[in-house]
Amino acid sequence: MSHDQLRPESLMMSYGYKPSLSEGAIKCPIFQTSTFVFSNAMEGKRFFEVAYGLREKEKDEELGLIYSRLNNPDLEILENRLCLWDGAEDCAVFESGMSAISTAMLEFMKPGDLLLYSKPVYGGTDHFINHFLKKLNIESVGFRAGETKEEIIQQIMNTGISDKLSMIHIETPANPTNAVIDIELCAEIKAHFNSEENPIVLSVDNTYMGPLWQHPLKHGADLVLYSATKYIGGHSDVIAGACLGSKELMGRVKGLRTFLGNMAGPWTGWLLMRSLETLKVRMDQQAVNAEQVAEFLNNHPRVEEVYYLGNTAKNGTDSDKEVLKRQYLSHGAMIAFDIEGGEAEAFQFLDRLNLIKLAVSLGGTESLAEHPQTMTHADVDPEDKKAMNITEKLIRLSIGVENYNDLIHDIEQALEQN
Ligand SMILES: *Cc1c(COP(=O)(O)O)cnc(C)c1O
Repeated sequence: MSHDQLRPESLMMSYGYKPSLSEGAIKCPIFQTSTFVFSNAMEGKRFFEVAYGLREKEKDEELGLIYSRLNNPDLEILENRLCLWDGAEDCAVFESGMSAISTAMLEFMKPGDLLLYSKPVYGGTDHFINHFLKKLNIESVGFRAGETKEEIIQQIMNTGISDKLSMIHIETPANPTNAVIDIELCAEIKAHFNSEENPIVLSVDNTYMGPLWQHPLKHGADLVLYSATKYIGGHSDVIAGACLGSKELMGRVKGLRTFLGNMAGPWTGWLLMRSLETLKVRMDQQAVNAEQVAEFLNNHPRVEEVYYLGNTAKNGTDSDKEVLKRQYLSHGAMIAFDIEGGEAEAFQFLDRLNLIKLAVSLGGTESLAEHPQTMTHADVDPEDKKAMNITEKLIRLSIGVENYNDLIHDIEQALEQN
C-alpha cells in the first residue's frame, strides 16, 4: 500500500523520517543544533544555490541541511506531516500562530493595498490589521457572517480602491458564536476582483476546526493558517503556528520567514510531532464530548441560547445548513451559550467550575471556560459585539477529552442557583 492510500492518522508516527539516519532511533530525535556540517565546499555551494533560489533543485538531487533558521529535521518532518491532513503541497511552521498570520499578510500585501476580512477575527489578528497594517498604509474592510456576496462586493467598491484588493482573510466558524462563513462564496468574491496583474490570496484561519474537521484548500482557499497552540499542539504546553498552501505561495512565505527569523525551533517541532500522533483520537473524543455537553445545555432551564454547529445543523437557516454540510466534517468541540442573567451570573458560573478551568485558549486536552465579552473579545468594537451576540451573558467552552459525564456534572453544579 502506498502512502497515498494510508490515512494521515496512520502516518503520523513515521512519515518522512528515516531511522537509519539517526542510529536506528524509532522516534525522530531533537536536532538541537544551529548549523550543519557540509561534506565539502562544493556541497555547501550547491545547497545555498537552491536555498536562495539561484537555481532549481535537480531531479533526484538530495539536498542537505544548512542552518536551523532555513531548515531543521524536526521542522521539515513536522511540515511534511501537517501537509497530509490538509492535502497541501507545502507547509511552514512558525513560533506562534500570530507569526504565521502576520508573515503571510506581510508577504502578500504592500502599502496601498486593501484587505477584506471576516468579523470577528482573533483579537491579535484584529489588532495587527487595524493598527500595524494601517501604519503601513494597508486599508481593510470587514464583513460579518450572513452578509451576501453582493453586499460584500458593494462594500469593497465603496472603498474606492477595489483594484488594490490583494488579500481576503477569514475565520470560520466565527469565534465565539460559531457563525458560519462560506469559503466558496469568498472564492467567488476573489474571482470577481482577481486579475493577472493583481492576484488575490484567500487565506483561512482554520484554528477553530483544526486540521481534521475543515479543509479550506478543497473549497478554494489559497492558504490555511493555524495557531498550532490549539488543537495541533493540543496539550496547552506549547505556542506555535503553521501556514499551508501550494509550493509556489509557500516558497514566498518561507522566504519571508527566513528573513524575519520566526520559524519554530527544534524543540517545538518535536513537541508538535508528538502531538500529531494523537491528533485524531483527541479531536474525535472532543467532538463526542461536545455533542453531549451541548445536548445537556440545550435542555437546561438557566441556559437561554446555545451556539454550537450541531444546533445550526438542526435549526439553522437553509443556507447555513448547506454550508455546514459542504464544508465541515464535524460539529467541532467549541460551544458558547447565554446564561440567564448578565455578567454577575456568568462570573458566578465561571467561578464555580471545578474540573473545567477558567482560562482562554482552546483545543487542548483539558476543558476550558471563559467570558468573551470581558476577556478574549474585550477589544472588539461594541457595535460589532452587539451584532455578533457577544454579550455579558455569553460563556465560551472548549471541550477536552475528560469523561463527558464528569464535564456535565461540573457544569450542572456550577449552574445551580442558591
Ligand atoms: C490563538 C489563536 C491565534 C493566535 O495564535 P498564537 O499561537 O496564540 O499566536 C490565531 N487565530 C486563532 C483563531 C486563535 O484561536
